[in-house]
This record gives sequence, structure tokens and C-alpha cells, in this order.
Amino acid sequence: METALTQDRSATISRGTGTLAPQIEHVVNGKKFAGSGTRTLNVFNPATGDVVGWVKAATPADVDAAVQAARSAFPAWSATSAVKRARVLFKFKALLEEHYDELAAMITQQHGKVFSDAQGEVQRGIEVVEFACGIPQLLKGDYTEQVGGGIDNWSMRQPLGVVAGITPFNFPVMVPMWMYPVAIACGNTFVLKPSERDPGPSIRVAELFKEAGLPDGVFNVVQGDKEAVDALIAHPDVEALSFVGSTPIAEYIHTEGSRTGKRVQALGGAKNHLVVMPDSDLDIVTNALIGSAYGSAGERCMAVSVAVAVGDQLGDRLVEKLVPKVRDLKIKDGMEADADMGPVVTAQHKSKIEGYIEHGVKEGARLVVDGRGFSVPGREAGFFLGGTLFDNVTREMKIYKEEIFGPVLCVIRVPDLESAIALVNAHEFGNGVSCYTNDGKTAQEFAHRIKIGMVGINVPIPVPMAWHSFGGWKRSLFGGYHAYGEEGVRFYTRYKSVMQRWYEHPTTNQFNMPTV
Ligand code: NAD
Repeated sequence: METALTQDRSATISRGTGTLAPQIEHVVNGKKFAGSGTRTLNVFNPATGDVVGWVKAATPADVDAAVQAARSAFPAWSATSAVKRARVLFKFKALLEEHYDELAAMITQQHGKVFSDAQGEVQRGIEVVEFACGIPQLLKGDYTEQVGGGIDNWSMRQPLGVVAGITPFNFPVMVPMWMYPVAIACGNTFVLKPSERDPGPSIRVAELFKEAGLPDGVFNVVQGDKEAVDALIAHPDVEALSFVGSTPIAEYIHTEGSRTGKRVQALGGAKNHLVVMPDSDLDIVTNALIGSAYGSAGERCMAVSVAVAVGDQLGDRLVEKLVPKVRDLKIKDGMEADADMGPVVTAQHKSKIEGYIEHGVKEGARLVVDGRGFSVPGREAGFFLGGTLFDNVTREMKIYKEEIFGPVLCVIRVPDLESAIALVNAHEFGNGVSCYTNDGKTAQEFAHRIKIGMVGINVPIPVPMAWHSFGGWKRSLFGGYHAYGEEGVRFYTRYKSVMQRWYEHPTTNQFNMPTV
């Protein structure tokens, strides 16, 4: 059943909590689409534990409806000039700015991160839209005249067709915006499968896109989980898949998507180290660690989860400085103005993080600050955890090897820069890393030798700007392309080279390899 995209905001259903929560629908061909699924998935406000919405998990038939809408929209959209496509994106950007706080509040309500952080997320997403507004220049090809007798050679980049994006819960606005603004600017049509844990903002974005003048079918949203993802992977009309999420699923999508002949970029999980050199200013380092480890409750793929103290003495001093700051974190409902950190995304995720903390204790790490058993007055049903700090962590421990994705920082000690570099390089993940030092030579050597995709020198979370590209190394990225920036344009287009000649005289057969 289809309904107008901007109507029917009040469709509600009782979710057994005594309150009525609205269905968060699919968007197909510019209209809300209830879908044919029978499985429903609840969406929570992590700060209160209340059900605030629900989705019907898309079936293969629902996914097919979205792909067919995108397929039908492709010929006209890809034939629209790049400058006209950019004009829609300029309007979309203006609307995003107009609805900036509304989108940020939706993020806080369904994800839990603090409102100011959610605003930052929207801003970083808008920056990719700004980048995509430059598409006429980005698609400009090369031209060489007279490469041989009367022959010119030029290149062009053409859109792929229907492309799909599958995104994680931790940035419900920004991560999808790493994908669709660039894909759509390039002339593709798009099907987004957002996280089932915070799917609401994607619907609002679809409404704003429509208001900006995007033709129906160019941007579609299907809600759901593995069933919808598998239907996208299997669909013969989907040309490419962009994925961001955990490493096992990234690897699965890369393998299966490639097997069905699709172009795939799949960004996975992380374990990001911040190396603290003895010459660094420990007050600066402590502040950088607190923000990057506990901001967004550690649910960022670029969160720092390991502090590498170079030298034992430095390790002691660092832990001493960290402890009061971890204890003093203001952990509250993310809509409260002075909150430093909100809840984690679901009760299930909270239990998983608590399991890691328990495991760390059993493994023999020193639990310096324990975030378990934390609750916020008036928000007792919320999924809150306190900041947690482990010292004397070793490389064999599960809490070091695996991504916890929560407000847990591990301190590990190494004797020198050489061992710090070896430690980071040996880790299976390679998303982000940072080195704090005041020595230029150390910084230069670190940046050169580290096997990680995104490196910060005295920058704790080195997320590249929209006109650079985002991506890790090793098991943090599968596929040959990073996200957004010029790598994004390359991913969403096929390169074509054309050689052209106009004959002025008769020719004879030529069997040898043409040379000039
Ligand atoms: P997730 O892997 O559980 O889910 C991501 C997406 O995959 C969701 O849309 C989900 O519905 C779908 N999915 C889940 N299980 C699936 C399955 N078995 N088959 C097919 N699809 C499936 O990730 P998450 O918990 O939503 O997000 C957190 C993870 O994302 C962390 O590992 C984090 O590091 C990672 N992440 C990575 C980056 C990056 O740029 N490298 C950015 C953000 C988040």
C-alpha cells in the first residue's frame, strides 16, 4: 500500500508498552510504502527504554519494488545534466540546514548520542552533499587531441545504474550520506537499507530530497535486516553495494556481492589506538582520550579504544590523569544540555559490553573504573553504562583483540616507538590511529610506517574531510574503494575511454599493432 510521502505521519500501533508508536515505513518511488512483511522490529529511545517506533522487515518482494522504482528512474536521471543534478543537491543542502536540529533530535532519540554530537553528525553529512554539488567538475573527463593521425582520445565517467547502500546504527544520518549524495550526483539511482535500530532519520531525509525536487524513484529506502540485505545482494538489477558496519558482515557482503558480479565497497569494524609518546603534553592527551574514547559512548568506528603508553612511567601518570575524568563524565539523556555521554543503543548491546568487561577482569586486566551498574535517576530503564577504564591490558586479551564498541578504554604499555608501531601494525583492524608527540621526526616516521588507513598526528579522530576519502586497511575495509571524495566518484561510475577519427581519404587493410 502506498501513501503520500508527506502524509500519514500519525499511523501508530500499540507496541505492548501502553503507548502508541508509529510505523517507520519504506519509501518507494517517492511515496511511503507499508510493505508486505509480517516480521516487525522495534525501535527504542535508548535513554528511556521506550519503544518509539517500529519497522516491518522488508521482504524480497518489497526490495524488488524499491529496485524496480530505482531502475525505472535511472534512464531519465542519468540523462539529466550534471549541473541540473547538482541544483537538486544545492536545494537539498539548504533543506538539510533548515532541518538541522530536527534531524539531530531524531538521531538522539533513536541512537542516544548527545544532541551536540548529533548536530555534528548532520554537519559532517552535509559536507558530503556540498562535495557532491561539485559534480559537474568532478565528472569532467580528460581530452588529448591528435594522439595519432587525426585521432583524438578522451575519457568519461558514466553512472552504474541502481546502487544500494547498507548502513550501521552508529551514524544514521552521516554514514548514509557518505554514499547516496555522491552516487545520485553521478547519475545513479539509489536504494538505502538503513540500520533497523535507528531508521527514522532516513525517512525524513527522503522527504527533504523530494521537496528539493529529486524525481521519484531516484532515492528509495527499505527498512529491515538480513532478509532485505540478502535480497539486495541477490538482485540482478543492483549494480553495486556500499556497506558500512561490522567486519563479519562487511566480509560477507563483499564475498557474496562480488560472487553475484557486483561492485562492492564494504567498510568494517575497528580497534583504534592512540599512541602516547613520552614527549607529549599529558593534559592535552588526557582530554583527547576522554573525548575520543567516551564520546558517543564509544560507538564510533573511529573511537579510540586503546591508549598505548610508551614507557611504564608514562602509563602510570596517564592512568592517574584519566581516572578522575572518567569518573566525572556527565552521563545523561542526550537531550540534556550538559550531557557528555548518552546511553548505548540497545539493552542487548549494553549486555554485550558488560560481558566484555567481565571477560577483561577474568583475563587479568586491571579494572580501574568499572562502568557496570550505572543508572541515571529518572531514566532507570535507559541503556546506560558508565565509562570504563582498564589498565595493564595485553595483546593476547580478548578485550584488546576484539572491537567492544562501547565506553571502554584499554591502556596497554610498550617500551618504545618501535614496539608501538609493531603492536598497531599487528592488529587485524586498520581503520584509524593517532600519535601524540611534539617531535616532528617521530610524527613523520609514524605516519610513514603505520599500516592504518586514517592517521592522526595530535588529532584523536582523524576522519577525512568530504573531499578526501574515508576508509581503513586490513580487515576494516573489503574492496578497492574508500568512501566519498574522489574515491566515491570512481566507485559510483565506470570509466570509459573513447578514440575518435574522421576519415578524409580511403584506407587499406592494416594488420600490425597501430603505433604512432
Ligand atoms: P552491523 O554489521 O550489525 O549492521 C550493519 C548493517 O548490516 C545493518 O544495516 C544491518 O541490518 C545489516 N546486517 C546485520 N547483520 C546482517 C547479516 N547477518 N546479514 C546481512 N546484513 C546484516 O553493524 P552495527 O552494529 O549496526 O554498527 C556497528 C559496526 O559498524 C561496528 O563494527 C563499527 O565499527 C562499524 N562501523 C564501521 C565504520 C567504518 O567506516 N569502517 C563506520 C561506522 C560503523
